[in-house]
Amino acid sequence: MPTYPDLKLYIGGKWRSSPETMPVLNPADESVLGFLPIARQSDLDDALLAAVEGLRVWSCTAPRKRAEIMMRASSLLRERNEEIAFAISSELGKPIRQARLEVIRGCEFFEWDAGEAQRLYGRVIPSEPGIRYMTVRQPIGMVAAFSPWNFPMSQPARKVAGALAAGCSIILKAAEETPGGAIHIARAFHDAGLPPGVLNLVFGIPSVISDYLIPQDQTRLIAFTGSTAVGRHLTSLAGRHGKPVLMELGGHAPVIVCDDVDPHQAGILSATRKVRNSGQVCTSPTRFFVHERVFDRFVDAFTRQAAATVVGNGIEEKTEMGPVANARRLEALTALSEDALAKGARVLTGGQRIGDKGYFFAPTVLADVPDHARVMQEEPFGPMAIINRVASLDEAIAKANALPFGLAAYGLTHSAANVDKMINLVEAGNLSINTLEASVAETPFGGVKASGFGREGGEEGLLHYTVVKTVSHKME
Ligand code: NAD
Repeated sequence: MPTYPDLKLYIGGKWRSSPETMPVLNPADESVLGFLPIARQSDLDDALLAAVEGLRVWSCTAPRKRAEIMMRASSLLRERNEEIAFAISSELGKPIRQARLEVIRGCEFFEWDAGEAQRLYGRVIPSEPGIRYMTVRQPIGMVAAFSPWNFPMSQPARKVAGALAAGCSIILKAAEETPGGAIHIARAFHDAGLPPGVLNLVFGIPSVISDYLIPQDQTRLIAFTGSTAVGRHLTSLAGRHGKPVLMELGGHAPVIVCDDVDPHQAGILSATRKVRNSGQVCTSPTRFFVHERVFDRFVDAFTRQAAATVVGNGIEEKTEMGPVANARRLEALTALSEDALAKGARVLTGGQRIGDKGYFFAPTVLADVPDHARVMQEEPFGPMAIINRVASLDEAIAKANALPFGLAAYGLTHSAANVDKMINLVEAGNLSINTLEASVAETPFGGVKASGFGREGGEEGLLHYTVVKTVSHKME
Protein backbone atom coordinates (compact mmCIF):
# COMPACT_ATOMS: atom_id res chain seq x y z
CA MET A 1 0.00 0.00 0.00
CA PRO A 2 1.53 3.40 -0.95
CA THR A 3 1.93 6.00 1.78
CA TYR A 4 0.81 9.62 1.95
CA PRO A 5 3.81 11.94 1.32
CA ASP A 6 5.76 13.81 3.94
CA LEU A 7 4.43 17.37 3.88
CA LYS A 8 7.20 19.95 3.45
CA LEU A 9 8.02 23.25 1.79
CA TYR A 10 10.53 23.07 -1.09
CA ILE A 11 12.77 26.14 -1.30
CA GLY A 12 16.09 26.55 -3.10
CA GLY A 13 16.29 22.84 -3.88
CA LYS A 14 15.81 21.78 -0.22
CA TRP A 15 12.87 20.46 1.78
CA ARG A 16 12.02 22.27 4.98
CA SER A 17 9.44 22.33 7.76
CA SER A 18 8.02 25.17 9.80
CA PRO A 19 7.10 25.50 13.47
CA GLU A 20 3.52 26.25 12.47
CA THR A 21 1.44 23.64 10.68
CA MET A 22 -2.13 22.93 9.61
CA PRO A 23 -3.82 19.55 9.35
CA VAL A 24 -4.68 17.96 5.98
CA LEU A 25 -7.88 15.93 6.14
CA ASN A 26 -9.18 12.93 4.27
CA PRO A 27 -12.66 14.03 3.13
CA ALA A 28 -13.90 10.44 3.02
CA ASP A 29 -13.63 9.97 6.81
CA GLU A 30 -12.36 13.33 8.14
CA SER A 31 -9.19 11.67 9.50
CA VAL A 32 -5.90 13.63 9.60
CA LEU A 33 -3.48 12.62 6.84
CA GLY A 34 -0.62 14.83 7.95
CA PHE A 35 0.41 18.31 9.02
CA LEU A 36 1.38 20.89 6.43
CA PRO A 37 4.04 23.50 7.25
CA ILE A 38 2.88 27.12 7.04
CA ALA A 39 5.48 29.32 5.33
CA ARG A 40 6.69 32.29 7.37
CA GLN A 41 7.85 35.56 5.84
CA SER A 42 11.45 34.38 6.18
CA ASP A 43 10.57 31.30 4.10
CA LEU A 44 9.03 33.51 1.42
CA ASP A 45 12.10 35.74 1.42
CA ASP A 46 14.29 32.68 0.98
CA ALA A 47 12.04 31.50 -1.85
CA LEU A 48 12.38 34.89 -3.58
CA LEU A 49 16.17 34.84 -3.29
CA ALA A 50 16.27 31.26 -4.53
CA ALA A 51 13.95 32.05 -7.45
CA VAL A 52 16.19 34.93 -8.57
CA GLU A 53 19.17 32.60 -8.66
CA GLY A 54 17.04 29.90 -10.29
CA LEU A 55 15.97 32.33 -13.00
CA ARG A 56 19.58 33.35 -13.67
CA VAL A 57 20.59 29.75 -14.28
CA TRP A 58 17.45 28.43 -15.98
CA SER A 59 16.89 31.32 -18.39
CA CYS A 60 20.39 30.64 -19.78
CA THR A 61 19.82 26.89 -20.03
CA ALA A 62 19.34 25.71 -23.61
CA PRO A 63 15.69 24.90 -24.44
CA ARG A 64 16.70 21.39 -25.43
CA LYS A 65 18.26 20.85 -21.98
CA ARG A 66 15.19 22.33 -20.26
CA ALA A 67 13.01 19.95 -22.24
CA GLU A 68 15.24 17.02 -21.29
CA ILE A 69 14.83 17.71 -17.55
CA MET A 70 11.07 18.21 -17.94
CA MET A 71 10.75 14.92 -19.81
CA ARG A 72 12.82 13.13 -17.15
CA ALA A 73 10.61 14.53 -14.37
CA SER A 74 7.52 13.53 -16.30
CA SER A 75 8.70 9.99 -16.75
CA LEU A 76 9.42 9.78 -12.97
CA LEU A 77 5.88 11.00 -12.33
CA ARG A 78 4.52 8.32 -14.66
CA GLU A 79 6.58 5.67 -12.82
CA ARG A 80 5.20 6.94 -9.51
CA ASN A 81 1.63 7.08 -10.73
CA GLU A 82 0.24 4.65 -8.16
CA GLU A 83 1.80 6.50 -5.23
CA ILE A 84 0.64 9.90 -6.50
CA ALA A 85 -2.85 8.64 -7.29
CA PHE A 86 -3.06 7.29 -3.74
CA ALA A 87 -2.10 10.71 -2.33
CA ILE A 88 -4.63 12.55 -4.52
CA SER A 89 -7.39 10.11 -3.76
CA SER A 90 -6.71 10.31 -0.01
CA GLU A 91 -6.66 14.11 0.23
CA LEU A 92 -9.37 14.96 -2.31
CA GLY A 93 -11.58 11.87 -2.19
CA LYS A 94 -11.28 11.37 -5.95
CA PRO A 95 -11.86 7.82 -7.24
CA ILE A 96 -8.49 6.15 -7.63
CA ARG A 97 -9.11 5.41 -11.32
CA GLN A 98 -9.69 9.11 -12.01
CA ALA A 99 -6.64 9.96 -9.89
CA ARG A 100 -4.43 7.76 -12.08
CA LEU A 101 -5.76 9.54 -15.16
CA GLU A 102 -5.10 12.91 -13.56
CA VAL A 103 -1.44 11.99 -13.06
CA ILE A 104 -1.18 11.11 -16.75
CA ARG A 105 -2.88 14.37 -17.70
CA GLY A 106 -0.38 16.31 -15.57
CA CYS A 107 2.47 14.50 -17.33
CA GLU A 108 0.98 15.39 -20.71
CA PHE A 109 1.17 19.09 -19.78
CA PHE A 110 4.88 18.71 -18.99
CA GLU A 111 5.54 16.74 -22.15
CA TRP A 112 3.66 19.13 -24.43
CA ASP A 113 5.35 22.21 -22.98
CA ALA A 114 8.75 20.51 -23.07
CA GLY A 115 8.26 20.16 -26.83
CA GLU A 116 7.00 23.70 -27.21
CA ALA A 117 10.02 25.03 -25.27
CA GLN A 118 12.06 24.18 -28.35
CA ARG A 119 9.73 26.02 -30.70
CA LEU A 120 9.57 29.45 -29.06
CA TYR A 121 10.48 31.12 -32.32
CA GLY A 122 11.11 34.79 -32.91
CA ARG A 123 10.70 36.53 -36.28
CA VAL A 124 12.81 38.38 -38.79
CA ILE A 125 10.81 41.36 -40.03
CA PRO A 126 11.33 42.61 -43.61
CA SER A 127 13.23 45.90 -43.58
CA GLU A 128 15.16 48.28 -45.82
CA PRO A 129 18.79 47.36 -46.59
CA GLY A 130 21.28 48.21 -43.85
CA ILE A 131 19.02 47.49 -40.94
CA ARG A 132 17.62 44.22 -39.60
CA TYR A 133 14.54 44.00 -37.38
CA MET A 134 13.87 40.86 -35.42
CA THR A 135 12.05 39.61 -32.37
CA VAL A 136 13.12 37.07 -29.78
CA ARG A 137 10.97 35.50 -27.08
CA GLN A 138 12.49 35.52 -23.63
CA PRO A 139 11.24 34.23 -20.25
CA ILE A 140 9.02 36.77 -18.52
CA GLY A 141 10.89 36.24 -15.22
CA MET A 142 9.81 34.88 -11.88
CA VAL A 143 6.23 33.62 -11.72
CA ALA A 144 4.06 33.62 -8.60
CA ALA A 145 1.52 30.85 -9.15
CA PHE A 146 -1.51 29.81 -7.13
CA SER A 147 -3.17 26.48 -7.86
CA PRO A 148 -6.48 25.21 -6.46
CA TRP A 149 -7.46 22.04 -4.61
CA ASN A 150 -9.67 20.33 -7.21
CA PHE A 151 -6.87 18.78 -9.32
CA PRO A 152 -3.92 18.46 -6.92
CA MET A 153 -1.55 17.20 -9.62
CA SER A 154 -2.69 18.52 -12.99
CA GLN A 155 -3.51 22.08 -11.85
CA PRO A 156 -0.02 22.81 -10.50
CA ALA A 157 1.45 20.86 -13.44
CA ARG A 158 -0.09 23.29 -15.92
CA LYS A 159 1.55 26.29 -14.30
CA VAL A 160 4.90 24.66 -13.57
CA ALA A 161 5.06 23.30 -17.12
CA GLY A 162 4.46 26.71 -18.72
CA ALA A 163 6.92 28.53 -16.47
CA LEU A 164 9.71 25.98 -16.76
CA ALA A 165 9.36 25.48 -20.50
CA ALA A 166 9.67 29.23 -21.09
CA GLY A 167 12.80 29.46 -18.93
CA CYS A 168 11.15 31.17 -15.93
CA SER A 169 11.55 30.37 -12.27
CA ILE A 170 8.42 29.88 -10.20
CA ILE A 171 7.17 30.11 -6.64
CA LEU A 172 4.12 27.90 -6.52
CA LYS A 173 1.62 28.19 -3.71
CA ALA A 174 -0.35 25.04 -4.16
CA ALA A 175 -3.59 24.23 -2.38
CA GLU A 176 -3.28 23.66 1.36
CA GLU A 177 -6.19 21.20 1.39
CA THR A 178 -4.60 18.97 -1.28
CA PRO A 179 -0.81 19.44 -1.22
CA GLY A 180 0.20 15.91 -2.27
CA GLY A 181 0.28 16.34 -6.05
CA ALA A 182 2.46 19.46 -5.95
CA ILE A 183 4.84 17.80 -3.49
CA HIS A 184 5.24 14.88 -5.88
CA ILE A 185 5.90 17.29 -8.75
CA ALA A 186 8.65 19.05 -6.77
CA ARG A 187 10.11 15.66 -5.80
CA ALA A 188 10.19 14.48 -9.41
CA PHE A 189 11.88 17.67 -10.65
CA HIS A 190 14.39 17.48 -7.80
CA ASP A 191 15.22 13.90 -8.78
CA ALA A 192 15.35 14.85 -12.46
CA GLY A 193 18.15 17.36 -11.78
CA LEU A 194 16.33 20.70 -11.92
CA PRO A 195 18.74 23.38 -10.67
CA PRO A 196 17.94 24.70 -7.16
CA GLY A 197 15.60 27.68 -6.99
CA VAL A 198 13.91 27.15 -10.37
CA LEU A 199 10.85 25.59 -8.73
CA ASN A 200 9.89 26.56 -5.19
CA LEU A 201 6.83 25.23 -3.41
CA VAL A 202 5.18 26.96 -0.47
CA PHE A 203 1.99 26.59 1.54
CA GLY A 204 0.39 28.79 4.14
CA ILE A 205 -2.34 31.35 4.53
CA PRO A 206 -3.26 32.11 0.88
CA SER A 207 -3.93 35.83 1.36
CA VAL A 208 -0.71 36.32 3.38
CA ILE A 209 1.35 34.68 0.64
CA SER A 210 -0.30 36.46 -2.29
CA ASP A 211 -0.22 39.85 -0.50
CA TYR A 212 3.50 39.38 0.05
CA LEU A 213 4.61 37.87 -3.26
CA ILE A 214 2.59 39.87 -5.78
CA PRO A 215 4.07 43.31 -5.02
CA GLN A 216 7.70 42.07 -5.03
CA ASP A 217 9.93 43.47 -7.78
CA GLN A 218 11.09 39.97 -8.70
CA THR A 219 7.52 38.81 -9.43
CA ARG A 220 6.82 39.32 -13.12
CA LEU A 221 3.64 37.27 -13.70
CA ILE A 222 0.78 36.16 -11.47
CA ALA A 223 -0.89 32.92 -12.55
CA PHE A 224 -4.01 31.90 -10.63
CA THR A 225 -6.74 29.28 -10.94
CA GLY A 226 -9.71 29.48 -8.62
CA SER A 227 -12.88 31.41 -7.96
CA THR A 228 -13.83 34.57 -9.83
CA ALA A 229 -13.98 36.53 -6.55
CA VAL A 230 -10.42 35.67 -5.53
CA GLY A 231 -9.19 36.06 -9.12
CA ARG A 232 -10.56 39.59 -9.27
CA HIS A 233 -8.99 40.43 -5.93
CA LEU A 234 -5.57 39.20 -7.10
CA THR A 235 -5.97 40.96 -10.45
CA SER A 236 -6.58 44.28 -8.74
CA LEU A 237 -3.61 43.74 -6.42
CA ALA A 238 -1.46 42.90 -9.44
CA GLY A 239 -2.81 45.95 -11.28
CA ARG A 240 -1.81 48.23 -8.43
CA HIS A 241 1.74 46.98 -8.85
CA GLY A 242 1.66 46.90 -12.66
CA LYS A 243 1.96 43.13 -13.00
CA PRO A 244 0.40 40.99 -15.75
CA VAL A 245 -1.91 38.17 -14.77
CA LEU A 246 -3.04 34.83 -16.15
CA MET A 247 -6.43 34.06 -14.61
CA GLU A 248 -8.41 30.86 -14.98
CA LEU A 249 -11.58 31.45 -12.98
CA GLY A 250 -15.01 30.00 -12.39
CA GLY A 251 -17.50 28.66 -14.91
CA HIS A 252 -21.08 27.43 -14.97
CA ALA A 253 -20.96 25.36 -18.11
CA PRO A 254 -24.06 25.13 -20.31
CA VAL A 255 -24.83 22.02 -22.35
CA ILE A 256 -27.14 22.52 -25.31
CA VAL A 257 -28.95 19.29 -26.16
CA CYS A 258 -30.58 19.51 -29.58
CA ASP A 259 -33.57 17.52 -30.78
CA ASP A 260 -31.56 15.41 -33.25
CA VAL A 261 -29.60 13.40 -30.66
CA ASP A 262 -30.40 10.07 -29.04
CA PRO A 263 -31.67 11.39 -25.68
CA HIS A 264 -30.95 8.14 -23.86
CA GLN A 265 -27.28 8.03 -24.89
CA ALA A 266 -26.92 11.77 -24.32
CA GLY A 267 -28.41 11.46 -20.82
CA ILE A 268 -26.05 8.64 -19.84
CA LEU A 269 -22.99 10.45 -21.20
CA SER A 270 -23.99 13.67 -19.43
CA ALA A 271 -24.66 12.08 -16.02
CA THR A 272 -21.42 10.11 -16.16
CA ARG A 273 -19.43 13.21 -16.93
CA LYS A 274 -21.28 15.32 -14.34
CA VAL A 275 -20.09 13.23 -11.39
CA ARG A 276 -16.43 13.24 -12.46
CA ASN A 277 -14.35 14.61 -9.57
CA SER A 278 -17.68 15.00 -7.69
CA GLY A 279 -18.52 17.81 -10.11
CA GLN A 280 -15.69 19.96 -8.71
CA VAL A 281 -14.38 20.95 -12.10
CA CYS A 282 -14.50 24.47 -13.53
CA THR A 283 -15.68 22.94 -16.84
CA SER A 284 -18.19 20.56 -15.27
CA PRO A 285 -21.34 20.32 -17.42
CA THR A 286 -24.00 21.91 -15.22
CA ARG A 287 -26.80 23.83 -16.97
CA PHE A 288 -28.46 21.45 -19.43
CA PHE A 289 -30.76 23.20 -21.91
CA VAL A 290 -32.63 20.38 -23.58
CA HIS A 291 -34.97 20.64 -26.55
CA GLU A 292 -38.54 19.92 -25.44
CA ARG A 293 -38.90 17.11 -28.01
CA VAL A 294 -36.20 15.01 -26.26
CA PHE A 295 -36.49 16.47 -22.75
CA ASP A 296 -38.39 13.70 -20.94
CA ARG A 297 -36.26 10.84 -22.29
CA PHE A 298 -33.04 12.77 -21.60
CA VAL A 299 -34.11 13.55 -18.02
CA ASP A 300 -35.09 9.96 -17.41
CA ALA A 301 -31.79 8.49 -18.64
CA PHE A 302 -29.75 11.17 -16.84
CA THR A 303 -31.55 10.66 -13.52
CA ARG A 304 -31.31 6.86 -13.59
CA GLN A 305 -27.60 7.02 -14.41
CA ALA A 306 -26.89 9.65 -11.73
CA ALA A 307 -28.84 7.75 -9.07
CA ALA A 308 -26.96 4.53 -9.89
CA THR A 309 -23.51 6.14 -9.38
CA VAL A 310 -21.40 4.09 -6.98
CA VAL A 311 -20.52 6.63 -4.28
CA GLY A 312 -17.86 5.76 -1.73
CA ASN A 313 -14.31 6.15 -0.53
CA GLY A 314 -12.23 7.07 -3.59
CA ILE A 315 -9.50 4.65 -2.66
CA GLU A 316 -11.76 1.69 -3.48
CA GLU A 317 -11.51 0.57 -7.11
CA LYS A 318 -15.27 0.24 -7.52
CA THR A 319 -16.00 3.84 -6.49
CA GLU A 320 -17.34 6.05 -9.27
CA MET A 321 -17.75 9.19 -7.17
CA GLY A 322 -16.07 10.12 -3.90
CA PRO A 323 -16.94 12.78 -1.34
CA VAL A 324 -16.72 16.50 -2.06
CA ALA A 325 -13.45 18.03 -0.95
CA ASN A 326 -14.44 19.89 2.18
CA ALA A 327 -17.25 20.91 4.51
CA ARG A 328 -17.64 24.26 2.67
CA ARG A 329 -18.80 22.48 -0.48
CA LEU A 330 -21.22 20.33 1.50
CA GLU A 331 -22.81 23.44 3.02
CA ALA A 332 -22.91 25.29 -0.30
CA LEU A 333 -24.52 22.37 -2.15
CA THR A 334 -27.13 21.82 0.57
CA ALA A 335 -28.05 25.51 0.53
CA LEU A 336 -28.32 25.62 -3.30
CA SER A 337 -30.48 22.52 -3.35
CA GLU A 338 -32.84 23.81 -0.64
CA ASP A 339 -33.12 27.17 -2.36
CA ALA A 340 -33.95 25.57 -5.73
CA LEU A 341 -36.61 23.38 -4.13
CA ALA A 342 -38.15 26.38 -2.32
CA LYS A 343 -38.29 28.26 -5.62
CA GLY A 344 -40.18 25.51 -7.40
CA ALA A 345 -37.54 23.22 -8.95
CA ARG A 346 -38.10 19.47 -9.00
CA VAL A 347 -35.40 17.44 -7.21
CA LEU A 348 -35.34 14.20 -9.21
CA THR A 349 -32.57 12.52 -7.25
CA GLY A 350 -30.16 13.49 -4.46
CA GLY A 351 -30.33 16.98 -3.03
CA GLN A 352 -28.70 16.10 0.25
CA ARG A 353 -25.71 14.85 2.16
CA ILE A 354 -25.15 11.11 2.44
CA GLY A 355 -24.43 9.90 5.99
CA ASP A 356 -22.82 12.01 8.68
CA LYS A 357 -19.16 11.04 8.41
CA GLY A 358 -17.10 12.26 5.48
CA TYR A 359 -18.24 14.91 3.04
CA PHE A 360 -20.51 12.86 0.80
CA PHE A 361 -23.20 14.61 -1.23
CA ALA A 362 -25.57 12.61 -3.42
CA PRO A 363 -25.50 13.07 -7.21
CA THR A 364 -28.27 15.59 -7.65
CA VAL A 365 -30.60 16.31 -10.56
CA LEU A 366 -32.74 19.44 -10.49
CA ALA A 367 -35.31 19.86 -13.27
CA ASP A 368 -37.41 22.84 -14.38
CA VAL A 369 -35.34 25.21 -12.25
CA PRO A 370 -36.61 28.80 -12.36
CA ASP A 371 -34.17 31.50 -13.45
CA HIS A 372 -34.29 33.21 -10.07
CA ALA A 373 -33.04 30.13 -8.16
CA ARG A 374 -29.52 30.78 -6.86
CA VAL A 375 -28.08 27.71 -8.57
CA MET A 376 -28.95 29.25 -11.95
CA GLN A 377 -26.37 31.97 -11.24
CA GLU A 378 -23.90 30.42 -8.80
CA GLU A 379 -21.52 27.66 -9.85
CA PRO A 380 -22.47 24.69 -7.64
CA PHE A 381 -18.98 23.16 -7.97
CA GLY A 382 -20.34 19.78 -6.95
CA PRO A 383 -22.35 16.83 -8.29
CA MET A 384 -25.39 18.92 -9.16
CA ALA A 385 -27.05 19.21 -12.58
CA ILE A 386 -29.81 21.56 -13.70
CA ILE A 387 -31.97 20.29 -16.57
CA ASN A 388 -34.34 22.79 -18.16
CA ARG A 389 -36.40 22.56 -21.34
CA VAL A 390 -36.08 24.91 -24.31
CA ALA A 391 -38.15 25.29 -27.45
CA SER A 392 -35.33 26.16 -29.87
CA LEU A 393 -31.59 26.40 -30.33
CA ASP A 394 -31.84 30.20 -30.22
CA GLU A 395 -33.48 30.03 -26.81
CA ALA A 396 -30.82 27.60 -25.56
CA ILE A 397 -27.99 29.86 -26.75
CA ALA A 398 -29.60 32.92 -25.14
CA LYS A 399 -29.87 31.03 -21.83
CA ALA A 400 -26.33 29.69 -22.14
CA ASN A 401 -25.04 33.24 -22.58
CA ALA A 402 -27.20 34.76 -19.84
CA LEU A 403 -24.57 34.43 -17.10
CA PRO A 404 -21.39 36.47 -16.68
CA PHE A 405 -19.32 33.26 -17.01
CA GLY A 406 -17.83 31.97 -20.25
CA LEU A 407 -15.40 29.11 -19.68
CA ALA A 408 -16.55 25.80 -21.18
CA ALA A 409 -19.75 25.20 -23.14
CA TYR A 410 -21.01 22.05 -24.81
CA GLY A 411 -23.35 21.15 -27.64
CA LEU A 412 -24.85 17.77 -28.47
CA THR A 413 -26.13 17.65 -32.05
CA HIS A 414 -25.54 16.00 -35.43
CA SER A 415 -26.46 19.09 -37.41
CA ALA A 416 -23.66 21.10 -39.02
CA ALA A 417 -25.93 24.14 -39.10
CA ASN A 418 -26.48 23.88 -35.34
CA VAL A 419 -22.75 23.56 -34.76
CA ASP A 420 -22.06 26.58 -36.93
CA LYS A 421 -24.56 28.65 -34.97
CA MET A 422 -23.04 27.59 -31.67
CA ILE A 423 -19.52 28.40 -32.85
CA ASN A 424 -20.69 31.85 -33.86
CA LEU A 425 -22.88 32.70 -30.89
CA VAL A 426 -21.98 30.80 -27.72
CA GLU A 427 -19.88 32.95 -25.40
CA ALA A 428 -17.17 30.62 -24.09
CA GLY A 429 -13.43 30.13 -24.25
CA ASN A 430 -13.89 26.44 -25.05
CA LEU A 431 -16.79 24.94 -26.99
CA SER A 432 -17.00 21.14 -27.31
CA ILE A 433 -19.43 19.38 -29.63
CA ASN A 434 -20.55 15.81 -28.96
CA THR A 435 -17.90 15.41 -26.27
CA LEU A 436 -17.93 16.67 -22.70
CA GLU A 437 -14.13 16.97 -22.59
CA ALA A 438 -13.13 20.66 -22.61
CA SER A 439 -9.37 20.67 -23.07
CA VAL A 440 -6.23 18.61 -23.63
CA ALA A 441 -2.58 19.58 -23.32
CA GLU A 442 -2.26 20.65 -26.95
CA THR A 443 -5.30 22.96 -27.01
CA PRO A 444 -5.51 26.41 -25.40
CA PHE A 445 -7.85 26.60 -22.44
CA GLY A 446 -9.33 29.63 -20.69
CA GLY A 447 -12.32 31.87 -20.30
CA VAL A 448 -14.11 34.95 -21.57
CA LYS A 449 -16.18 37.40 -19.50
CA ALA A 450 -15.93 36.66 -15.74
CA SER A 451 -14.16 33.35 -16.36
CA GLY A 452 -10.71 34.84 -16.72
CA PHE A 453 -8.00 36.22 -18.97
CA GLY A 454 -5.37 34.40 -20.98
CA ARG A 455 -4.98 30.78 -21.96
CA GLU A 456 -3.21 27.78 -20.51
CA GLY A 457 -1.99 24.95 -22.69
CA GLY A 458 -1.46 24.79 -26.42
CA GLU A 459 0.89 27.10 -28.24
CA GLU A 460 -0.89 30.13 -26.77
CA GLY A 461 -0.42 29.05 -23.14
CA LEU A 462 3.33 29.13 -23.22
CA LEU A 463 3.47 32.61 -24.73
CA HIS A 464 2.11 34.13 -21.49
CA TYR A 465 5.32 33.09 -19.78
CA THR A 466 7.44 34.98 -22.30
CA VAL A 467 8.08 38.56 -23.38
CA VAL A 468 8.91 39.69 -26.88
CA LYS A 469 12.11 41.63 -27.34
CA THR A 470 12.42 43.57 -30.58
CA VAL A 471 15.95 43.98 -31.85
CA SER A 472 16.79 46.66 -34.45
CA HIS A 473 20.28 46.03 -35.81
CA LYS A 474 21.85 48.71 -38.00
CA MET A 475 24.74 47.22 -39.99
CA GLU A 476 27.93 49.22 -39.91
P1 NAD B 1 -12.21 30.32 -2.42
O1 NAD B 1 -12.76 31.37 -3.30
O2 NAD B 1 -12.01 30.63 -0.97
O3 NAD B 1 -10.77 29.83 -2.94
C1 NAD B 1 -10.54 29.43 -4.26
C2 NAD B 1 -9.02 29.15 -4.39
O4 NAD B 1 -8.32 30.37 -4.21
C3 NAD B 1 -8.46 28.22 -3.31
O5 NAD B 1 -7.51 27.38 -3.93
C4 NAD B 1 -7.79 29.16 -2.30
O6 NAD B 1 -6.68 28.57 -1.64
C5 NAD B 1 -7.34 30.29 -3.18
N1 NAD B 1 -7.31 31.58 -2.50
C6 NAD B 1 -8.30 32.13 -1.74
N2 NAD B 1 -7.95 33.37 -1.35
C7 NAD B 1 -6.71 33.61 -1.87
C8 NAD B 1 -5.82 34.72 -1.82
N3 NAD B 1 -6.12 35.86 -1.20
N4 NAD B 1 -4.63 34.61 -2.48
C9 NAD B 1 -4.32 33.49 -3.15
N5 NAD B 1 -5.12 32.41 -3.24
C10 NAD B 1 -6.30 32.47 -2.61
O7 NAD B 1 -13.17 29.12 -2.59
P2 NAD B 1 -13.08 27.59 -2.22
O8 NAD B 1 -14.12 27.29 -1.18
O9 NAD B 1 -11.70 27.09 -1.96
O10 NAD B 1 -13.55 27.01 -3.61
C11 NAD B 1 -14.87 27.26 -4.00
C12 NAD B 1 -14.99 28.01 -5.27
O11 NAD B 1 -13.77 28.25 -5.91
C13 NAD B 1 -15.79 27.15 -6.21
O12 NAD B 1 -17.15 27.47 -6.10
C14 NAD B 1 -15.23 27.46 -7.56
O13 NAD B 1 -15.99 28.48 -8.17
C15 NAD B 1 -13.87 28.02 -7.30
N6 NAD B 1 -12.81 27.12 -7.74
C16 NAD B 1 -12.52 27.11 -9.04
C17 NAD B 1 -11.52 26.28 -9.51
C18 NAD B 1 -11.18 26.25 -10.97
O14 NAD B 1 -10.63 25.27 -11.43
N7 NAD B 1 -11.44 27.32 -11.71
C19 NAD B 1 -10.84 25.46 -8.63
C20 NAD B 1 -11.16 25.50 -7.26
C21 NAD B 1 -12.15 26.35 -6.83
